[in-house]
Formats: sequence, C-alpha cells, structure tokens
Amino acid sequence: MKAKGLKEKYLSFFKKRGHKRLPNVSLIPENDPTALFISAGMHPLVPYLLGESHPLGKRLVSNQRCLRTTDIENVGDSHHLTFFEMLGNWSLGDYWKEEAISWSWEFLTKELGLPKEKFHVSCFKGDKDAPKDEESAKIWKKLGVPLNQIHFFGKKENWWAPIGQTGPCGPDTEMFIDMGGKCREGKKDCDPSCSCGRFFEVWNDVFMEYNQVAPGKYKPLKQRNVDTGMGVERMISAIQGVDDIFQINAFKPIIEEIEKASNKKYEGENKKPMRVIADHLRAAIFLIADGVVPSKEDRGYVLRRLIREVIRQSNSLGVKEVFSVSLARVIIDNYREEYPNLIGNKNKFLRELKNEEQSLILADIRYAESKARREVEEYAKRIGLNLKKKQNLEEIEKELLVPYKGEDAGLFIKENPSISTASGIAGTIVFDQKTTHGRPAEDTNEILNKHLNIKQDVSAEAQAILNKLHKDVSRKSAVKKFKGGLADHSEAVTKLHTVTHLLHQALRDVLGKHVQQAGSNITAERLRFDFVHPEKLTEEQKKKVEGIINEKIKADLPVKMEMMSLEEAKKKGAQALFGEKYGEKVKVYSIGDYSCEVCGGPHVKSTGEIGGVKIVKEKAVGTGRRRLYAQLA
Ligand code: ATP
Ligand code: MG
Repeated sequence: MKAKGLKEKYLSFFKKRGHKRLPNVSLIPENDPTALFISAGMHPLVPYLLGESHPLGKRLVSNQRCLRTTDIENVGDSHHLTFFEMLGNWSLGDYWKEEAISWSWEFLTKELGLPKEKFHVSCFKGDKDAPKDEESAKIWKKLGVPLNQIHFFGKKENWWAPIGQTGPCGPDTEMFIDMGGKCREGKKDCDPSCSCGRFFEVWNDVFMEYNQVAPGKYKPLKQRNVDTGMGVERMISAIQGVDDIFQINAFKPIIEEIEKASNKKYEGENKKPMRVIADHLRAAIFLIADGVVPSKEDRGYVLRRLIREVIRQSNSLGVKEVFSVSLARVIIDNYREEYPNLIGNKNKFLRELKNEEQSLILADIRYAESKARREVEEYAKRIGLNLKKKQNLEEIEKELLVPYKGEDAGLFIKENPSISTASGIAGTIVFDQKTTHGRPAEDTNEILNKHLNIKQDVSAEAQAILNKLHKDVSRKSAVKKFKGGLADHSEAVTKLHTVTHLLHQALRDVLGKHVQQAGSNITAERLRFDFVHPEKLTEEQKKKVEGIINEKIKADLPVKMEMMSLEEAKKKGAQALFGEKYGEKVKVYSIGDYSCEVCGGPHVKSTGEIGGVKIVKEKAVGTGRRRLYAQLA
C-alpha cells in the first residue's frame, strides 16, 4: 500500500464513524505567534481543545502536513523526518478512551490487516501530576494485546506536552510495530522506549484532560478531548515491512536520483548524508510552497539552514553539479496530486532554490576570498612590502609568488605558513572550499571566475602540493590537539571549559534554540566559542548572556557527571555536538538544572569556583556562524 491508499482508508474509516474532514492547512500557523511551524495535526485545533466550539462539530479527522525543527538533528536515523504528513482523528469533548483505542486497533489490524502479534503499546505510568493510566491498559488487554507487550513509561515517553509553555496536554498511549530482529544498538533490554529503530512508533492516542497553565502546573480541562496522530511515512514503512523510512516508495526515486548524481550507493556511511538531502530538500520545497523565503531570521532562517545542509551534504558525497533543482522536480512530481500549490508555484520556487543555492555558495567563497586577501596583506606587511592603498592584490600576490613554482612553492609555503597556498588567493580559496565544504576545485574556480573576476586557475601541480601539505598540517595539528586535550587540565582551562557549557545554554536562552555550538578552543588565557547564529550580537544581547553566566556562577551550582549511552543522554535532553562521533558510553555533565551536555572535558565541581566571566569579543566566522571570546574576570 502507498501513502495515497493509506490516507483514503483512514479518512473514510473515520468519516464513517461521524468525523468531518479538516483541510490540510499551510505549514505557517495562522494565529499563533509562538510557533514557527505546524508541528502536529492538533496544532490548528488548540482553541477548540480548550473548549471553543468547532464549526464542523465534535468529531474531526485530517491529513496535515507538519514540520518539526526539533527533529532536524534526528534526521539521518531510520525513522525521523523534519517534514512529514500526519493523519489524525479528534474528539472534542465527545468520545473517550474506549472508542479511541478500539478504533485505532480496528484500523490497524482489520482495515490495514497488520499482524496483531507485532504490536506493542505503551501507557502512562503515573506521577505526582496524574495517575497511572490503567484504563487504557485494560482496554488494550481486552482487545487482545498480551500483558508483556503493554509497557508503562513516564512523562518523557507517554505525555503530550503543550506546544508552547501552556495549553492542553495529558497522558497518551502509543502504538509500535516490532520490525523484528534484535536491538539495533545491541542492548539486551530493548523495548519501545529504545530509539534504536526496532520498534517503530506509528500512532499516538492522546487523552487531553489537563491544561498546563504554567510549566509544571496542571488544571483539569473544561472538556476531555482525544487527539491522535499517525505518521504517514512511518506507517507506510511498517506496512511495506521496511525498517527504514527512506526506503518507502515516496523516497525511493529521490534516493535514486541522489545515487545517480553522486555515483555512490545508498549504503554504509553514505546513508546519513543521503537521508539528510532527501528529507531537507523535501521540507524546503514544502516551505517555499507555503510562502517562506530564505532569510536571516525565523522561518526563513530554518529554510536557509535546510538548503545549506543539502548543499553541504551533497558536496560531502562528491556531487559535482548543483543538483537540487533536478531533485526538486522528482519530489514535486510525487506530491502534485495532493498539493496543487507545488505545481502552481513550481517555477517560482525552483528559481528560489537555485538562487539560494548560488548565493550561499557565493557567500562562502566571498568570505574565503576576504580571508585570503587578509593573509596576503599580512604577509606583505611582515616582509616589509609597502602596499599602496587599494593596490590590486592580485598584482602584489604575483610579485610575491611568481618566483615559486613546483617544489619551490612547497618550500615557500613551509617558510611562510600564513600564505597557505602555492597560488595565492585563488589557491587559498579553492583549498578552503575543499576542506571546509568539500567543494570540488573546478566549481570554485568557475565561481571565482564568473562572480569575483579572479581569473587564476589553480594548477594541478599546485593542487597536489597543497593536498600533501594539508595532510602534514592536519596530522600535526591532530597530534597537538590530542596532547592539548590530555595535558592541559590547568585550573584556568578547567574553569573556562565549564564556562562553555553555561555560555552555550545562555546563548540559546537569549538568542533562541537555533543556536548550536560549532566548535570551541580553550587556552589558559581565554575561551573561543563558535556557534550557529545568523547575525551580529547586539551589545544588549552580549550583556544579557554575560549576566546570565555570572548569575549562574554566583548561584554556585553543582556540576555533576553521569555515564550513559548517547541515546539515554539525548532522552535526558543533553546537548551533543551535531555530527560528532561518540563512543558507546558518554559522559553527561549537568550544571544544576541549567545545562546538560555530553562532554569529555575537565570541569569544576561547582560553578562558584569560576569566579566570574567577561565576554571580550564577538565576530563572524563565515555565513551564519559567530565566534565569541571570553575570559575569566
Ligand atoms: P518519536 O518518539 O519517534 O520522535 P513522537 O513521540 O515525537 O515520535 P508524536 O509527537 O506522538 O511522535 O507524533 C505522532 C506520530 O507522528 C508518531 O507516532 C509518528 O508516527 C509520527 N512522527 C513523529 N515524529 C516524526 C518524525 N520526525 N518523522 C516522521 N514521523 C514522525
Ligand atoms: Mg519526537
């Protein structure tokens, strides 16, 4: 069965049971300034779940497009997407657990004919805010789910929390299909709370009987509602019996197109970048179709980040040509029936995509160019060459570098490490693009030529020297880094290292959740911290961040370490570096309730030891990245 068949079956099943169909609305929420995107089918229904009466009645059903920025970092595993479709049925103060659960079961096992024995379900185990959900468990048992396939979990797994700080919420019961085999992560006690991908969560029935009026504070709702959500792509995976969402028919042609363009197979370590490209591009297309334009903030920024990641991952796979436009065509074709807005706007957003792709590449290269120019200027200054104001840098460069060719050039670079290439500016840029973005030399040369009027081609000979040199340099710096990591646990470094955790959290608090650590470097004198953020920080923002850190230092919060698996760490809400490789067990450091991060560095025992901190400098490092320097005060 394909997505279309599933949707038709679902909608008609619930229509027959008195539900009225809701429209599949834009990803941009209408009257909700607190959320960037619609992230679940219930999202547009919040006022009605709170008690307002809905014009279509008390029983509703829909297929709703959703986008979850919170899942961006999960994309790459076997079952998370940023953009997906969600089927859902609702009771607004009408039917309750008995009907909801029985219908879910009937739909799964009778309508879809899925094997009963493969199902596991989970229910809320109860805590100080709400009792154990015995009622749901009893219904499952009555329907024939064996007791050892009914699990009880806490709030993290079995509680629907409001989308913002307040709103309707309550316990839920989730349905999983055992895709067979053992735990994909080798755990002995793998159950549906394990996110290894063996148990596919396909459907969630939420019983909303509470209103969260403030974080941690609940009041009974005026009416008891049922809110359910079934992921279309997940369900199709389960129906098709594949434990990889990217293998369903909707993704197959997309993955094949990526395989063709990269001349690589969808296997091993290629899987992750291919999944990211397929998912992010699909999400980007739907965002553009709903009117989002790439920009520096909010929705536009999410879109830009998605497109940027597509480009980055395509480069990492060695895709030679810009190919998002041809890939976009495949995606559009697949959804043209259900989403006519994709076809109507097709040319507009293929243009948009292309522009964005080109402007991002150009921005990267411009940045590399100005960096390379600075290097040449600095070098000229050092050797006492008097630069005339605005003298053409290419000319200076020629003067500096022309005598050096082949082996000589290698020597020259060794003696003058700040000029890192044999052919000066163009070479530095080509080199930078290759090492930071995996961009092929021909592509960079072409752009330099076309847009920046730099005509110099980097010769194959120079390129070979560069590559060799780069290997030497990176080996040396790896050795240095390793040493640094082991040796320098001095007091100052330990303090500054702990500060990076506070800084990371404070930046997220002040600037928003898009902030992510992109790197850090610590010496006894200062800490340097790179992070993802689209624009310069204002003085006020810097003061605020500094203020929060010093406040947390004053509070003398305890710093605690626990060992756990990365999965457990993620569940705990720990920050982990995107793309970093971790071992089987990781160290998770929490600073009071304020920060929680996977980390291997040295830490103080409590924040009071740090004394105080001062932010000394902030600047850009590439498009969408900032760098902060801070010192102990
Ligand atoms: P998970 O724990 O797997 O992230 P969830 O608990 O966040 O799922 P819900 O918020 O209950 O999921 O969403 C309802 C349904 O939507 C899920 O049962 C699943 O089928 C689907 N779903 C949720 N998140 C995703 C996603 N990132 N990609 C694809 N489908 C999803
Ligand atoms: Mg989730």
